[in-house]
Amino acid sequence: MSVYGHVAVGAALGSLAPHPAVALALGAAAHIPADLVSHRDLNRAAELLMAAAALILYTWLGGLKLTIALGAVGGALPDVESLFRGGEKLFPSHSRLLRHGGARPAWDALVQLAVVVTMAAWVVWAPAFW
Ligand SMILES: [Zn+2]
Repeated sequence: MSVYGHVAVGAALGSLAPHPAVALALGAAAHIPADLVSHRDLNRAAELLMAAAALILYTWLGGLKLTIALGAVGGALPDVESLFRGGEKLFPSHSRLLRHGGARPAWDALVQLAVVVTMAAWVVWAPAFW
């Protein structure tokens, strides 16, 4: 998943978290299954810009809750190694341990769009149910 997708999933999980540290850990843990979704990575500047925009958007949608912001940060955090580490990566879904979802035809963009819209709806409406 692209970084903005990880931010979206992390934010949604953060909305469920009872504590900021739990939100951060849930976001980071969710990075692994989300990376298995086929996707194409954009260039570094586009990824950073879209991730920052997503962080601001989801935090705002969620009523500026710290757990949502930290869940989103946790979701993106594993991709920091891609900024600084060339060659073999350490995070499980970036290493050879688990296969990173490869780029697929156009429908992979639709999957990511569906995920980010669903996560936005979750962040906005799910708190009403608990
Ligand atoms: Zn990743």
